[in-house]
Amino acid sequence: MSEQTRFDILVVGGGMVGSALALGLSRQGWNVGLVEGSDRKTLLEKSAVASGVEDFDPRVSAISLASQRLLEQLGVWSEISAGRHCPYQAMTVWDGDGTGRIRFEAAELRAPALGTIIENRRIVRALFAALTASDVELVDGVKVTAWWHDQHERGIRLEDGRTLAAKLVVAADGAHSRLRQWVGLPTREWDYDQQAMVCTVRTTQSHRFTAWQRFSPTGPLAFLPLSTESGDEHFCSIVWSQDTAEAGRLMALDDDAFRAELESAIERELGTVEVVSRRYAFPLRQRHAKDYIASGFALVGDAAHTIHPLAGQGANLGYGDVRALLEELGRARKAGIDPDNHLVLARYQRRRKGENLAMMAAMEGFKQLFGRDELSVRWLRNTGMRWLNQLGPVKNRIAAEAMGLD
Ligand SMILES: Cc1cc2nc3c(=O)[nH]c(=O)nc-3n(C[C@H](O)[C@H](O)[C@H](O)COP(=O)(O)OP(=O)(O)OC[C@H]3O[C@@H](n4cnc5c(N)ncnc54)[C@H](O)[C@@H]3O)c2cc1C
Repeated sequence: MSEQTRFDILVVGGGMVGSALALGLSRQGWNVGLVEGSDRKTLLEKSAVASGVEDFDPRVSAISLASQRLLEQLGVWSEISAGRHCPYQAMTVWDGDGTGRIRFEAAELRAPALGTIIENRRIVRALFAALTASDVELVDGVKVTAWWHDQHERGIRLEDGRTLAAKLVVAADGAHSRLRQWVGLPTREWDYDQQAMVCTVRTTQSHRFTAWQRFSPTGPLAFLPLSTESGDEHFCSIVWSQDTAEAGRLMALDDDAFRAELESAIERELGTVEVVSRRYAFPLRQRHAKDYIASGFALVGDAAHTIHPLAGQGANLGYGDVRALLEELGRARKAGIDPDNHLVLARYQRRRKGENLAMMAAMEGFKQLFGRDELSVRWLRNTGMRWLNQLGPVKNRIAAEAMGLD
């Protein structure tokens, strides 16, 4: 690599979102660089095809049909779905403090599934395998340490002293995006004062290819179905969001006491529960950049927005950003327009901001609604859930929105 390498587009961050974007842009014919702080070999080794049940990635995503379509267009879905992945046919949501219950069914929507639970590392692995065989210049195992720009160009400096230049730099460097801070794009953020605990469990009853979610005033608990190589239907990945003090208490429990609390929190819906992995806890914070773009610069994925995992939409919103940016830049390429054209970037921002904000507002509404235990609010939400459950068309419209279907 020369002392200063120039690209049309430089993507910083090779997580689920940035690596998909870099691959799509290169397929459009742009000269693309992708910088990822961790070392690619380690990343691929970490994500090497794992088959043991003790070896599930604690981070899984409920990938919507819209995100699946994007991964299909990028040519990586066949690789992802060749390994373990779990399409789920139904979702049951209920109020732990009442009698309200809603069940969404793929069959009612004439869809093959509501979505697919996939280990994050499987997605990253498939994307990196495709990137290695693509024209994308991969710069990995080295972190970005600074941003620079002059009148005509902008770029980044790497910790090993190299400088990279591009017409457009896209930050996909996650929730704590350094690039967003260096470029000076402010965020609106607030702490949910909750932590999400995640781990893998084995249950005595089959998960029945259903995603289970129980709400309580201190936060939601999700059991997301997993598939093993041998087709065992008794493993789930749990995401248990609880107020920070309660999460601290639960994380401090020994395995058996934690298991007992978990079993009672899910109301033994799937029989008895055994925890088969380490437990992890992630602090939850809502964050939204006031602007997604600046001159020759754009944000995608968690760098632009983070939301509560209660509806499993974070990565799906990131893939929505990727789809929109690919469409706008694809059109620009065909018309011979530079990728840093302000109108092109402004269209991307306009398309994504409204949708992302609407989803964030919905998540906040859910959290508030289930976080209150006054009798009147409890009555309202339980009656509302029962009523909604009987209203097929409205219920199906909500499900279609969550699946990313138009
Ligand atoms: C508990 C929990 C459960 C979730 N469940 C779901 C779900 O079911 N469905 C769903 O859609 N979403 C879910 N999400 C959200 C989802 O995980 C994120 O939205 C998604 O991983 C964001 O991807 P990203 O590529 O934008 O960011 P990241 O995955 O954070 O990737 C950022 C990348 O940038 C790299 N990087 C950072 N800084 C630098 C630097 N200075 N130089 C070079 N490289 C750098 C990092 O190494 C990393 O690879 C969940 C989140 C949590 C916390």
